[in-house]
Amino acid sequence: MPFRLEIVTAERIVLSDEVDQINVPGAAGRMGILPRHEPLLTSLIPGELDIIKNGERTPFAISGGFMEVLPEHVTILADTAERADEIDEARAEAARRRAEELMRERRSDQEMLLAEAQLRRAMVRLSVARLKRGGRRAGPGGGLE
Ligand code: ATP
Repeated sequence: MPFRLEIVTAERIVLSDEVDQINVPGAAGRMGILPRHEPLLTSLIPGELDIIKNGERTPFAISGGFMEVLPEHVTILADTAERADEIDEARAEAARRRAEELMRERRSDQEMLLAEAQLRRAMVRLSVARLKRGGRRAGPGGGLE
């Protein structure tokens, strides 16, 4: 019995679908959400968001946001979200290099924090982009086989 999932950003509706399970990068650790989960409002950190539907896992990269869980409806409000096959790896690699360069320059605390955040986003995108070649299937309970 699936539940409805909406992933939205300020720019677009990224996904609106019936899914069986999601695994999200919660602020307090990775969380698996199944149908009829108890109501919950939590913040998300940059990381891999997995959607599991009919035994197929679709990975997304998100750069943080919020998630509202209701028994039959989950809404994810993400700062940015890209499906693995939408990620431009060369762009993420360039962003990673720029962030590392800025961190080496150590100009100010604020710039350091911005560079660290940019580095995290880029690293998540690179790691999620690599998953698209794997064609992994979700195992029992959504784990990897
Ligand atoms: P860049 O410097 O390359 O823009 P960034 O981390 O500063 O990287 P964000 O501010 O997180 O970029 O995202 C801006 C927009 O660009 C969002 O819509 C995001 O989904 C998209 N985006 C960023 N990087 C990529 C990428 N490597 N592949 C596809 N879309 C991306």
